[in-house]
This record gives sequence, C-alpha cells and structure tokens, in this order.
Amino acid sequence: MNDLIGRVLSFEKQVFPNQSALFAKLVNDGQSPKALMISCADSRVVPEQIMQAGPGDLFVCRNAGNIVPPFSNHNGGVSSTVEYAVMALGVRDIIVCGHSDCGAMKALMNPEGLERMPNVAAWLRHSNAAASVVNECYPHMEDAERVRTAALENIVAQIAHLRTHPSVASAIARGQMTLHGWFVDIREGAILALDGVSGRFATVRDDRPLPVAVPAGQRLANGIELLEAAE
Ligand code: ZN
Repeated sequence: MNDLIGRVLSFEKQVFPNQSALFAKLVNDGQSPKALMISCADSRVVPEQIMQAGPGDLFVCRNAGNIVPPFSNHNGGVSSTVEYAVMALGVRDIIVCGHSDCGAMKALMNPEGLERMPNVAAWLRHSNAAASVVNECYPHMEDAERVRTAALENIVAQIAHLRTHPSVASAIARGQMTLHGWFVDIREGAILALDGVSGRFATVRDDRPLPVAVPAGQRLANGIELLEAAE
C-alpha cells in the first residue's frame, strides 16, 4: 500500500482517540464553522494548516483555480456549498484563497496546453476576466509574473462572482458577511490579503488591521436610504 494511503490507519488508532471528546461535542451539537474557505485544490495549499483550524472550525470548498461561478440557474457544487454555508450554517466570513505557482492560472494564461482537458478549459472560462485584464493591461510582463498577476486578478474576479449569489449579497447588505481575498505565496510562506478599497494586496501582519475585500454592511446602492428619506 502506498505510504500516504496507509496513514489512514493511524487516524483510527491515534488521531481520533486523541480528539474523541471534540468529535463527540461536534456530533451532539452539530457543526458551526467560523468561516468558509474557497481554495485552490493544489496539494501545497492546505486551508486547515493556513488557518490553524481543527475539526469543526472551517467549511472548505476546493477546486482548480479557487473559482466561484457566478450565480445562475445551473446547479453546481461551489454554488450549492456557498448557499449551504451561508443559509444553513450562518457563516459570516468567506475567504477566496489563491496562491503562487498555480497550475490553473498557468493554464489560464497559456491555454494551448488544454486541448486534451476540455473540462478544465471550460471551468477556467470563469477566470476569463482575470486573463483579459492581465493580457490587456500588462502586455510586457514575463510569464511567471503574468501568472502571479493572473492569480491576484482571479481572486478579485471570484470575489465579484460571490456577490452575484443572493445569499451572499443579502448577508453583506445586512452587515452579516465579510468577504476576504487571500493569496498564499507558497515559496515565502506569506499571506497577502486584498484591500477592497485600494485594490491592493498587502501582507497580513499582526500590527495592523486585516485588509478585507468587501466589509460587512457595504451596500452598493446606498442612495436608496436618501431616496426614502426624501419621500
Ligand atoms: Zn492552484
């Protein structure tokens, strides 16, 4: 048996017994995770490790490219996970987490290698806005820099898609949801967080507030209150 597969035996024998009280509580009380993380499926990005999360802490949805398709009438795994996290679990923070050296972003920027992967090619269409921004605004970048910039733009694009989901949009407007855009540099071990006001990604540091992509309570049609007051 491959070494990794064989390690499942130690979950039963060692890991679970050490945490059996926690699991019993989570089974009896149900889960109430503190955040939803939508991360790339890349094996080098481990949401629970980045968040120092244990069982019950983090609701996770992973896919190639940390993509959130815009809301539509087509059912999908990511959309359903987002809806369940917000409506059933009451999650109040959603993190879209991309990373450096991302294979999905390399494919997005060099799609000629995707002829034999039609599903990947179709999936990455949800990141076309990011590719378009990079291609048109940064035409002189070297390939590695283009891929890194695409990963950052892709986080911005997927945050915008999240807002098309009614459950997310209304939770933000009610002041009960904050959106975060994070980029993990897997060479440096650094996390960059998107500041939605400046559009910049800044290193997360403990001596300053955590930048957020969309703060709770932000309404894009704030004039509505003024109209109501004038009536
Ligand atoms: Zn990736």
